[in-house]
Amino acid sequence: MKLDISALRYLTSEDWRVLQAVEQGSKNHELVPTPLIQHLSGQRQGVHKCISALAKVGLIAKVKNAKYDGYRLTYGGLDYLALNTHRKPQPSPNQTTPQPTIYSLGNQIGVGKESDIYITASPTNRQLVLKLHRLGRISFRTVKANRDYLRNRSTGSWMYLSRLAAQKEFAVMKVLWREGFPVPEPVGWSRHTVVMEFIDSFPLRMVESVPEPGKLYGELMELIVRFAQRGLIHGDFNEFNILIRETTDENTGKVTLTPVVIDFPQVVSTNHVNARMYFDRDVECVRRYFERRFKYTSDEAGPFFDEAVKGADPERRLDVEVQASGYGKKVSELDRYVEVVGGDGEGEGEALEEEDDDAEDGGEELEDDRPEQDKEAPDEEEEVQQQDEDAAVEARLDAL
Ligand code: ADP
Ligand code: MG
Repeated sequence: MKLDISALRYLTSEDWRVLQAVEQGSKNHELVPTPLIQHLSGQRQGVHKCISALAKVGLIAKVKNAKYDGYRLTYGGLDYLALNTHRKPQPSPNQTTPQPTIYSLGNQIGVGKESDIYITASPTNRQLVLKLHRLGRISFRTVKANRDYLRNRSTGSWMYLSRLAAQKEFAVMKVLWREGFPVPEPVGWSRHTVVMEFIDSFPLRMVESVPEPGKLYGELMELIVRFAQRGLIHGDFNEFNILIRETTDENTGKVTLTPVVIDFPQVVSTNHVNARMYFDRDVECVRRYFERRFKYTSDEAGPFFDEAVKGADPERRLDVEVQASGYGKKVSELDRYVEVVGGDGEGEGEALEEEDDDAEDGGEELEDDRPEQDKEAPDEEEEVQQQDEDAAVEARLDAL
């Protein structure tokens, strides 16, 4: 799905309020009745005009043959709401004045199996990645078990799972980054999106040859063990999710390859009933890939799950910390989905050819350049809304 931001700057503050109303109403209505949109938007007049404007650019959609008159939010609408949050000044612990997370949007650089990846730039021109989760997009023909469970989901419930995926991914990346693991720095999240550091690299899949395969292999296995010692298993530790950074020593000309790990929605705790299986699968994935691609086989067996978790300090469990950070209870639905669909596997993570005009050369600006009085509700309001949203999200779990 293409992210078309051309309508972003033409939306009025009333349009935004109506779009937010549709989002809010979607929490307990598959199809949000028009009077409810009107009520939630807090606007007495002009709501129909806003609705037509939003429907015209595909941010909301009318449902045909419905029993009553109403609209649903589209992925496009959800994208806009998330981008609108990212372009507004966000409080951050290391900044004195709140800054927008994203200033401009550049090219799409990757299409994951269930995500779209864009290059973006911060107000200080730092290159960042915007990952939009798009659960439900893959073809379920390949999924044998539980197919109906997947097929019968509504758009709204896919969006809900995509939000959980983003929330979980951000929470996991935050603790891993803080603890010095080689992951992109997470910068922000909103709804189904995560903003993170751009890693100038190639996925391992695209690396033709490695000067010292044994060294890289050892580092990757060590990473799997380090994750486990902190209570986490990546769960999809494959050649698409391992990015390789290349640095050349100026004096010796020696090339060093360092791995950076991405893609965390499917992470599981080492306490998971199938933890051993997930751990072994991650190990096996690396082992097999090195054998096939680099003709490298290690003399050593393992690493082994039992040994890895033996060294774990119960006080420093990141799985416990992440679960306590709020997504814990809600995420079981996401975990079930991941179990059914499985990991990335072959055919995933298609990186797009780089084009010349990326964010660095001034991608499309997202700046909210409407007059001050036209701008949207203050951030506090949004924060309250986010809390309401969390409560509502929890309530919705029962309905799923
Ligand atoms: P999915 O969950 O859909 O597999 P990923 O997070 O694995 O999505 O991202 C898909 C692809 O996008 C990756 O294989 C990689 O090529 C690219 N990518 C993702 N995140 C980054 C990043 N932070 N820096 C550079 N490239 C990235
Ligand atoms: Mg991936």
